[in-house]
Amino acid sequence: MIAGASTSAGRRPWTTLRLPEPGQGFVHARGDVFETTDPATGEVVATLASSTVEDVDGAVGAAAHAFETSNWASNGELRAHVLYGFAQSLRAEQDRLAELLTREQGKTIHEARIEIRSSAKMVEYYAGLSRLVYGRSAVLGAEVQGVILREPVGVVAVITPWNWPLILLVRSLAPALAAGNATVVKPASLTPAITLEALALLASQPGLPEGILTCVLGSGGVVGEALVGHDGIGMIAFTGETATGIRVMKRAAEGLRKVALELGGKAPNVVFADANLEKALAGAENAIFTTCGQICTAGSRLLVEDAVYDAFVERLAANTGGLRIGDGLDESTQLGPVASAAQRVKVLDYVERGKAEGTLVAGGTVLEGASYDAGHFVSPAVFADLPADSSLIRDEIFGPVLTVQRFADEAEAVALANDSEYGLAAGLWTQNLDRAWRVGRAIRAGTIWINTYHHFYDEAEVGGFKRSGIGRQQGIEGLHEFTETKHLNFDGKATLW
Ligand code: NDP
Repeated sequence: MIAGASTSAGRRPWTTLRLPEPGQGFVHARGDVFETTDPATGEVVATLASSTVEDVDGAVGAAAHAFETSNWASNGELRAHVLYGFAQSLRAEQDRLAELLTREQGKTIHEARIEIRSSAKMVEYYAGLSRLVYGRSAVLGAEVQGVILREPVGVVAVITPWNWPLILLVRSLAPALAAGNATVVKPASLTPAITLEALALLASQPGLPEGILTCVLGSGGVVGEALVGHDGIGMIAFTGETATGIRVMKRAAEGLRKVALELGGKAPNVVFADANLEKALAGAENAIFTTCGQICTAGSRLLVEDAVYDAFVERLAANTGGLRIGDGLDESTQLGPVASAAQRVKVLDYVERGKAEGTLVAGGTVLEGASYDAGHFVSPAVFADLPADSSLIRDEIFGPVLTVQRFADEAEAVALANDSEYGLAAGLWTQNLDRAWRVGRAIRAGTIWINTYHHFYDEAEVGGFKRSGIGRQQGIEGLHEFTETKHLNFDGKATLW
């Protein structure tokens, strides 16, 4: 399926991918060929075949058949066994997968290793929950019993983005499988090779019935649309942009298919004057520069209280100027390239707008040097003094661009934090416990980090308020998303008329 990668001086080739031929195994792809490239060098990373609409039919048909005929939905022990095996394989293959992840996505190798480990951990969590898919019973009358069951939905389409292609894959795929569903995965077109490599580890687990895992490849506009509109799909778990999510939901509505949508964000990160400012500074940098700003929970709107604003922004600017930007495979790199040429153009356009509308306090320079020429590198940028309606403050840029706003008091901080169409996440920094609770409750977002940022736990739900999504992932709710609730009602002496 995937022909190897080219190499250049100083870069070793990554292992030849061992995947089935087109049309065989879990991958249904017999269409046109496309390539993925390394955002740091422009080298070809992988050559793959797209799926045709017939391939989508084939994948959905195989998944539906497996769901109806296999023991997957009824055998929690089997599901746990398969998922544990998958997690172990991810751990065993960490180094190889991390390198491929960095080569295809651009993120630092350090972050790539974290992503593989975190993915394995999440799969383990849902492996355990595979044996806990149960409902409850209720005494509803003298001789009336109710048993409320949780059953799998059927065939679930899992559509993923490119920024954290593995963790965002398993965050939907693992609970969907744990709940007993069959699945069709459609990875982002920028990162299919790393997704396929991980899926191949799952597909090879002993006991996984053929068809419970299938995969289609290719453009969202064609393959994704065909999948979302397919009559054989019972649910779509989509992670991506809000505009695409709306499109997916409209199309799903035509067939009244269930959706779980994890969408965009524009997270506020609020620093009060009474915070531990050392930690808050590190937190502000982590919040925006993780994955080069290409993370849905990026703390891209920094709000700083008047009393500490000038000193805080000065230190932030100095630190931003010192970030090491480069090839993600270099262990010392702190910021890799953005994932594609289009993403770079988009980010640079916002940087130019920011220069016209506000004050550039750090970065935003042209990166010069041979090592930057072939890649999609951008200099991180911090802007202040922007008007409240600036597109930099309102839009999800998905790049290393931070806006800073000042506030006078708690009420203004909350008002600014909530002044967004998104509600995915927020950070707040204060040593005043009462304030932490008050502000944490007042900000409308799915995750509020208090004196920390970007720490995720498999046990704790994530998801969006407002235009950041519908439904919850992770935790027990993340499992329940992939189930239907059924009431079995027993009545010993029902009088019906
Ligand atoms: P997109 O919405 O562009 O794409 C996401 C996935 O949907 C891709 O696989 C894409 O395919 C596919 N797709 C595109 N159009 C359609 C369609 N019409 N029907 C079905 N599928 C389609 O998002 P990005 O990949 O650019 O990811 C970045 C976005 O994801 C950001 O907005 C970010 O905030 C969000 N995100 C949200 C997270 C959350 O937890 N809330 C987590 C991470 C990211 P293709 O690649 O071929 O275009």
